[in-house]
Amino acid sequence: MKQLLIISGKGGTGKTTIAAAFIRLSNAKGYADCDVDAPNLHLSLKQVKEPLKKDFYGMDKAVIIEEACIGCGQCEMHCAFNAIHFDGTSYRVDSLLCEGCGVCEWVCDADAVKMTPYVAGETMLYENGHVFSTAELKMGSGNSGKLVTEVKKNLTDHSDATFAVVDGSPGIGCPVIASLAGVDMALIVTEPTQSGLSDLTRIHKTATVSGVRTAVCVNKYDINTKVTAEIRDYCDQNQIPVLMDIPYDKMAGQAVNKHMTIVDFECKAKPFVAQAYHQIKALMRGI
Ligand code: SF4
Ligand code: SF4
Repeated sequence: MKQLLIISGKGGTGKTTIAAAFIRLSNAKGYADCDVDAPNLHLSLKQVKEPLKKDFYGMDKAVIIEEACIGCGQCEMHCAFNAIHFDGTSYRVDSLLCEGCGVCEWVCDADAVKMTPYVAGETMLYENGHVFSTAELKMGSGNSGKLVTEVKKNLTDHSDATFAVVDGSPGIGCPVIASLAGVDMALIVTEPTQSGLSDLTRIHKTATVSGVRTAVCVNKYDINTKVTAEIRDYCDQNQIPVLMDIPYDKMAGQAVNKHMTIVDFECKAKPFVAQAYHQIKALMRGI
């Protein structure tokens, strides 16, 4: 399976809009949403059937067994994350604050603390003639990188598609590094602002360190053509192919509200997005 990953240095650049459009244009039989903190690809690509859902277990978290606790307070005293408190009756662990370090279990002489598997989110697998793998992390849970790996594994385990589009996580952290694993090419979607340029340089370095080839697409290029030119200069200097620039189109937001992609109806951006898609496919043919 050849995988095209769509990423951006931060959220709000139009990454998912472009990923949804590319999925539609390629009629991809396999695709995934790795933005597990805020998945929204399903809003543009409505699914017919309900998904198969599975609990995702992150790190173990501490649980205090009330009957065994002798109330010595050692666990509260040693928890560096301030996750244990006496509520007037008993000692309790705040699972949102617990980082699973296990110190409380170690200091408890009464053997009243148990490190317990914790449901940190859920994976969702849609099989509607195509395979769509996605997941959602519970608010306040870590392990987003591990969940991204699970999303990608679900895609490759259940789909025999020869080409897949993966909507990556925004930013440059652990989930993005997990998104980059095993992909054939990463398309970096950026916007023409100074912060967009700065994010582009960081995400490009992250992809390069991961050994993944990149291309760039400037979304809403016409809101600042001066910075668009600077982005092109950066790409020239670093031998990064730049796809067709995409103009600002207020219809992009409306497409999501109508559960459509931006290439499902006539709008200003459509031919530009289509051109960018054909360019990236041509680039991937050589891989
Ligand atoms: S260290 Fe153990 S016995 Fe002491 S308060 Fe904590 S859970 Fe209870
Ligand atoms: S496992 Fe670590 S973070 Fe969690 S409650 Fe115990 S000491 Fe605090």
